[in-house]
Amino acid sequence: AEQELIAARDEALAAARARSSLLAFMSHEMRTPLNGVLASLDLLRGTSLDARQRGHVDTATRSGEILLHLIADALDVTRLQADVLMLREAPFDLGGLLEEVASISRPAAQARGNAVLLGLDLPALNVIGDRDRLRQILINLVGNAIKFTRDGTIRLSAAATQIDDDEARFDIAVEDSGIGIPPDQIERIFEEFVTIDAPGDPVTRGTGLGLAIARRIATLMGGSLTAESTPGSGSRFLLRVSMTTVPRPPAAAPATPDGGEPQPRRGARVLVVEDNPTNRLVIGEILALFGCRVSAAEDGADGVELARAERFDLILMDVSMPRLDGPGATRAIRADPAALSREVPIIGLTAHAMPDTEAGLRAAGMQGCLYKPVRVADLRRLLVSLLGHAGEEDPPVPAGRRPDAPEAADPGDAGGTLEDETIAELAEMLGAEALEARLAAFAAELDGLEAALAAARAAGDLAGTGRIAHRTAGSAAVFGARALRTALNALEAACAAGEAGAVDAGLGALAPLVAECRAAVSELGADLRAQD
Ligand code: ADP
Repeated sequence: AEQELIAARDEALAAARARSSLLAFMSHEMRTPLNGVLASLDLLRGTSLDARQRGHVDTATRSGEILLHLIADALDVTRLQADVLMLREAPFDLGGLLEEVASISRPAAQARGNAVLLGLDLPALNVIGDRDRLRQILINLVGNAIKFTRDGTIRLSAAATQIDDDEARFDIAVEDSGIGIPPDQIERIFEEFVTIDAPGDPVTRGTGLGLAIARRIATLMGGSLTAESTPGSGSRFLLRVSMTTVPRPPAAAPATPDGGEPQPRRGARVLVVEDNPTNRLVIGEILALFGCRVSAAEDGADGVELARAERFDLILMDVSMPRLDGPGATRAIRADPAALSREVPIIGLTAHAMPDTEAGLRAAGMQGCLYKPVRVADLRRLLVSLLGHAGEEDPPVPAGRRPDAPEAADPGDAGGTLEDETIAELAEMLGAEALEARLAAFAAELDGLEAALAAARAAGDLAGTGRIAHRTAGSAAVFGARALRTALNALEAACAAGEAGAVDAGLGALAPLVAECRAAVSELGADLRAQD
């Protein structure tokens, strides 16, 4: 009997090894030609096609993208199984991470009628851990909660359950009020490739790998990931992990270019591919502040041209753009042997966090992504990690820059419509004069917004309506106009889904938000002029 057991175990181990190496082979060997296929489809879409041909190209592209997602997930699983995925630990603020996850998940949640609540009960300490991987787990859990909940609540919470000298135990939970999971399936969902059919709600089908990956990462962190659920009333996923705690640095790390953090190496050449002019300008300004030489393209197709002709050190690429989107442009750059920037890191810029967003972008050939609105601290971290940091002799902040900045854009003044922190950061970064100019441009955009939306809607052009909503949502994000941004994101989602009723409801609800935001913009503009 013992011999039989040993033989059975060896056989199972051999099977597991064979499966891992098959996955590894498939992931690597399939990705390259598939990217070639998708890049060619992107180029084909740019030629003159009739409607039927365009439909075929779109179907082929969508199928290819699904396959790429699957491969990206399979690669993560393989890495985890083969123990080659290493955690990269550094001190970070756990509460800040949860706030970030909640805030980037809100637009997607809102589009399905869900509210995202956040509850934190944490000590004023930093923890040492792998922030990116923890974020991957949380984005996955919150993304699932959004997918499987309609018109409900998603609650993200974190509490320290035990605090010792330099170690604490944390319970981090994601709860939803969605469809729930049958008791006999609750352990199965953590297995690879398991998805459960949700009756009556044909939401986007995933690969069934998200939770398997999340649990493996949790285990790698020495923690656990479990679920409990009541079908029909909701689910609760609990990540339980212990981490070393360290005191917070005294200057609570302001998100300014001289926050005492390592500064990026100067002189890097960065290409920014972004269709929203305000975003393009703001990101360009931040990069310039860090001593980067910035080139800009207004859509994916122009981005591909510039990346072909010049070798950059980094490309920042918006995800949804007219003509050619970010993943399409990335594939075209990666597939073109003549492109001078073929091997350069490409980082996606996106406003929506869904569990497979990052995996999808990586599958297209990007190295990662930043969530909009892009903050100074995010870009600094990215530049330092990709390009290294500057030497002592190299002052990071150009002299004469900061005196321009108003002391502080009085938080109360904008009536809370424009997020104080965002405005203060913009003021610091751009200086009062440039901020005034950007505010004026935003004001003009707001003034024309409703007429433009109404015209597109009256012409029955839902795609056009969605594009206008998308563009202004981008500008609203830059100025921290959260409510307006969320409403525009929801409108954009309704347009994309072709739900005419939801589009009209979204348009109807816009007027007071636009008016409120417009008033806040005027008020802030007046304050800035008064400070001049
Ligand atoms: P997928 O990529 O399909 O979402 P996951 O591994 O993340 O894969 O999830 C596996 C399955 O678990 C999902 O297909 C779904 O059936 C179920 N599931 C996960 N999270 C939830 C949730 N919050 N509510 C209901 N079902 C869920």
